[in-house]
Amino acid sequence: MAPKWGGDKINELDIQGVGMTSQRTRDRLIDRLQDKGIVNSDVLRVMRLVPRHLFVDEAMASRSYEDASFPIGHGQTISQPFIVARMTELIMQSESLENVLEVGTGSGYQAAVLGGLVKNLHTVEVVTELHRNARDLLYKLGYRNIRTHLGDGSWGWEEAAPYDAIMVTAAPDEIPSALIQQLKIGGRMIIPVGAQNSEQKLQVVTRNNETNYSVENHESVIFVPLVGG
Ligand code: SAM
Repeated sequence: MAPKWGGDKINELDIQGVGMTSQRTRDRLIDRLQDKGIVNSDVLRVMRLVPRHLFVDEAMASRSYEDASFPIGHGQTISQPFIVARMTELIMQSESLENVLEVGTGSGYQAAVLGGLVKNLHTVEVVTELHRNARDLLYKLGYRNIRTHLGDGSWGWEEAAPYDAIMVTAAPDEIPSALIQQLKIGGRMIIPVGAQNSEQKLQVVTRNNETNYSVENHESVIFVPLVGG
């Protein structure tokens, strides 16, 4: 059994839940993820626990356990649960991840999932209001292993580097070299790459040594652009 990290107030908050947030509704989402090919039992266990309805706009709460992405304001989206599960599964290939960076906090949902699986998570968001909302919600849910930061994450987050793994949840045209530099040797980065309005590919980048990295292509995806850089 993997170690249990953050989110120790989840159950307390969830008592306030209404019908749509019931464990059965969440279990159905997990069944759907398994049907679509997600097999990592730690990822499924954590996603069964994280209350996604608290990360979406109240008007969307009744649909929050559908396998769909939703707007979260500022032209941004909370990712589809299948993509969250898939990217998390791709990052969780090592036994235990001590220090991880997420670029693109958004609603904080992906951070909450990672926060239940890795020892320390740093997450960077460029939109002030999204950063504040996610920071406050993650704190309320009891995550003490997640550090939220405001800034342009295409430069990574130097202060806490190097990272065992990096997950980027917005798409650059090309892999930002600052992010590769902040990966430990042997570390992995999951990142959607490709121009807007063209095909983006989910890529797994492995840093082989100081100067060399390799790239594996996975499925096609649609992400909002990574701005700045
Ligand atoms: N991980 C998020 C979640 O679980 O809700 C979904 C992320 S949303 C698809 C992409 C996010 O990346 C947006 O919140 C956007 O503002 C943010 N973003 C875009 N460019 C960024 C940058 N250079 N640095 C940090 N965040 C960025």
